[in-house]
This record gives sequence, C-alpha cells and structure tokens, in this order.
Amino acid sequence: MGDAAVALREATQALSETSDSPRLDAELLMAHALEIERAELLLKLPELAAPAEFPALIERRRQSEPVAHIIGKKEFWGLDFQVTPDVLIPRPDSELLIEEAVRAFASRHPQRILDLGTGSGALLLAALSEFPEADGLGLDASAAALQIAHNNADKLGLAGRAKFLLLDWTATNWADAPGSGFDLILANLPYVSTSAILSKDVAGFEPHQALFAGEDGLDDYRIIIPALVKLLSPAGTALLEIGFDQANPVSDLAAENGYHSELKQDLGGNDRLLILRR
Ligand code: GLN
Repeated sequence: MGDAAVALREATQALSETSDSPRLDAELLMAHALEIERAELLLKLPELAAPAEFPALIERRRQSEPVAHIIGKKEFWGLDFQVTPDVLIPRPDSELLIEEAVRAFASRHPQRILDLGTGSGALLLAALSEFPEADGLGLDASAAALQIAHNNADKLGLAGRAKFLLLDWTATNWADAPGSGFDLILANLPYVSTSAILSKDVAGFEPHQALFAGEDGLDDYRIIIPALVKLLSPAGTALLEIGFDQANPVSDLAAENGYHSELKQDLGGNDRLLILRR
C-alpha cells in the first residue's frame, strides 16, 4: 500500500480555496510528477507512493498558477497541446467552435482554413485533425506563441498542412498578407474588457495580449469583421468566439459588413459563438 491516495486527499483539501476543480487538479499534478497518464494514476492509486515533488507542485497551484502551466500541457478536442505562459490556455468552451465547424462542413469539407490569433494552434490543429484534406494558416502577433503552435503541429503530425504567419492586425493593409478564399475562418480573439476583473489564475498568468481588447472588449472584432470580406470565400463560414454579453454588438458589426449571424451557446448556457455567412 502506498500513500498516494492520502496525499491526493490532503492536496484536494489544500486546493479547495484556490481552485474550482481541486481533486482534478491534484490528480493531474500527481500524474505529472509520476510521469503517467491520469487514467493510469486512478487505476493504480492504492499501490502508488506519493512522489517527493508533489507538495511543491501543489504549492504552486495554491498560489494560483494554472495546472496547464505547471504540467506544460492542456487537452483540447482530445488532443494534447503544449502550453506555456506565451499562449492562452485552450478552454473547453472553445471546443464549441470545432463542433460547429464539423456540423457546418458535414457534406463539403473546407479546403483552406484560417485561424485568427492562433496562440497554441489549438483551434487550427483541432480543425485540421477533423478535415484531412484541408490546409491551414494560423496568424498571431506573438512570435513566442507561434513557436508553440509550430511545436504542436509537429507533435500532432499536422505540420505538413499547417502554416503559421507572424502578423499584427493593427498594422495597415495587414489583410493583404494571408491571402484570400478561405472557406473556414476560426477566431478566438481577445474580447475581454480592459476594466474586467479576472481571476488570479487568468489575470496573473495568461498573456494579456490574448485577453484584453479595449474598454468594451470589441477592439479586435472591429478590425477583423470588416476584413472578412477580403479573407473569406463568398460561400465561406466564419466562426467567432464571443463574450457572454457580446452577441448583439458583434452581430451588428457583422450585419454592417454584409454577414448574417447565427448564435450558439456553450455548455454553461452562455452565448459563446457567432457563425457568420454571407
Ligand atoms: N474565455 C476567456 C476567459 O476566460 C477569454 C478568452 C478571450 O479573450 N478570447 O477570460
């Protein structure tokens, strides 16, 4: 009999004030310390000994450092993504974009996919894993983020179909560089108001460049939506992640630029996604 089960119980208790998912966090951190998958940890728990480095990992999490930063990875759409403080940690809510992309392109797969603000590459690479004939381009203003996206494309065996481009869309004529005729555009833009108060896990550890977009959180949509006319093929579909209170202003922006929008909610029942078509 090992003492891993007891250590997990104590760690769960220790994390209960910091984390919404203390037991899961403790399991992921222990599995990481043991260099095994969480499923194996749960299976063998009674016979395992708590690893010596476990308390230090729990202490980091207790100081609000995200689990994904401590273990260096996060699962998204069933795929493992390398994650560092240079990229937004992929969120389960964003899987809705992939789900709806699969639904929208059930009968005719996209050939060319564009991901605006690709970060870790999670959206682009998940989409490429679903559409084996497609090529994809991911844009980001952060070279450090694109390095992570490259690593993820390599590790997932998708590097042959994924290209990445360093690009800042606050520059003039930026929309000339990526090309045109994309039939699927994915975007999880920064959309948080600069005056929003975020939890310490997010505000203290994740890149502000990927989160904040002006007082109303709409700065990046104001740039991206008018550019869709150039980037998206006439029959194409753009999937935009939005904040829970942004459906109206973003669909208004879309309408001003000739697109109608369909609104979708995430699992928590919040408005999360707009599907734009001509
Ligand atoms: N959903 C993110 C959050 O937790 C925001 C992501 C974004 O701005 N794109 O704050």
